[in-house]
Amino acid sequence: MIEDTHRALREALGAYLSGQLTDPEREQIDAHLAGCAPCRDELTALSTVAQRLSTADPDQFGAPAPAPPPELADAVLARVRAERRRRAPVWALPVTSAAAAAVLGIALGWQLHPDPPAVPLENVTVQATGQPIQAAAQLVPHTWGVEIKLTGSGFEPGRTYRVMITGPGDQRVPAGEFIGTGPAEMRCNLNSSILRTNATGFQVIDADDQVVLTSRF
Ligand SMILES: [Zn+2]
Repeated sequence: MIEDTHRALREALGAYLSGQLTDPEREQIDAHLAGCAPCRDELTALSTVAQRLSTADPDQFGAPAPAPPPELADAVLARVRAERRRRAPVWALPVTSAAAAAVLGIALGWQLHPDPPAVPLENVTVQATGQPIQAAAQLVPHTWGVEIKLTGSGFEPGRTYRVMITGPGDQRVPAGEFIGTGPAEMRCNLNSSILRTNATGFQVIDADDQVVLTSRF
């Protein structure tokens, strides 16, 4: 019953403060407040609000709320997207960038074309007849001939060099050509139809028909 009294009184405090109660009603509330500290506190709090409301400008109530600047929404959305990007695992990202597409392409390509079985690589010695050529070579025996993997530098830039595989007797089989790249390292695969069993070495010949590099297998 006592709780009900407090609640009823507190509900009436608004009317009490704004002077809308009859004299008997107000006296009843005064009597309760005299003996109830919590309800007096409630009245104090309410009267503070009432005071502030009484000083507020009613003309302001109808004014529309100030709108946020339009760029704020964009800024917030951009921030959210950036956060998502930062947190999302790589596989969850939409494939929109060229980089992602490239990664996917590489992965697919790798799946569709797995590395061929390792081929036996034969290291062969090379000898340059003139400086500043420096070179190394490996030989790959194929069913269709031999392949020379030539790595070198010091071949005169812009000059064409021919490669010949040597065989029994004076046999020389062309294996292709390359252009010198100067001090920059050049990597070149040269193919010929001569079989490994017949190949005895190779020569690199410059445009003046001078042999600049030789190899004996
Ligand atoms: Zn009370």
